[in-house]
Amino acid sequence: MTIIKFHKLLFFIFIVSLLQLPCAPQAGCRSASTETQVSSGLAKNDTPSARFNTFNTLIRDGTISRNEGTKRLNTLLLELREDYSRRGGQDFSKNSWIFPVKGYDAKSIGGSNKGYSASGYDYFSGNRHGGHPSFDIFIRDRNQDCLDDQLGVPVKVLSLGGGMVVAIEGVWEQGSTLRGGKYIWVYDPGNELLLYYAHNGTLSVRIGDIVKPGELLGTVGRSGLNALKPRSPTHLHLTVLEVKDGRPTPLNIYQDLVGAGKVLSLGMGGKPD
Ligand SMILES: [Zn+2]
Repeated sequence: MTIIKFHKLLFFIFIVSLLQLPCAPQAGCRSASTETQVSSGLAKNDTPSARFNTFNTLIRDGTISRNEGTKRLNTLLLELREDYSRRGGQDFSKNSWIFPVKGYDAKSIGGSNKGYSASGYDYFSGNRHGGHPSFDIFIRDRNQDCLDDQLGVPVKVLSLGGGMVVAIEGVWEQGSTLRGGKYIWVYDPGNELLLYYAHNGTLSVRIGDIVKPGELLGTVGRSGLNALKPRSPTHLHLTVLEVKDGRPTPLNIYQDLVGAGKVLSLGMGGKPD
């Protein structure tokens, strides 16, 4: 082999190695940027869901008072409920809930007391909230590339129940202090719940989308201030708040997660994924 050919070979190997770099953990294991753009969560119209998203961002960033927030929340939830039923949204009981991480079950919920601690939590504290009224569902991802170690593919985040996508953060970059990373809020009017799915890698829904139990929301990722740190195993962070009396109150849904069905039980066809 001539020296020139050898250099060509080295150059070729260099290019191929660049193409095969694993997704960078520091970028929150995001995949194709086009997918992120498509699901950036920007609502085109002034819909109840878009208004809730704006409101939720004000709460998140601490730029609205608790009193004002409480007043606005009740009005917004009424509007969301009307919009949901007008657009054909159905109510699903907890009996039809689907475990929100495809291929996993409640055994993957981590932490002492299953990680659930409602003490100190307040929705109106936004990004500065205390407590952890939530369940962290860990996936098999020892090298933290957001791919299932056994299957080599991203792990799907599924909608636990039915409802409407009312808030989204579709953009998250390293250095952001946002704890939830790329998150999704779903409002379930039938059960009067707000469901929060955080640390996603990619999002597959938009604000205003109506979802059923088991429907694809996105993929498990590492987006979020702490979720990105190497000490944090890759997981979905799931919070469920009940809003019956106008105040979002944490709900311990551990038993519901244990009893939740798997999407495979619905068969291969249909919309749920
Ligand atoms: Zn968590």
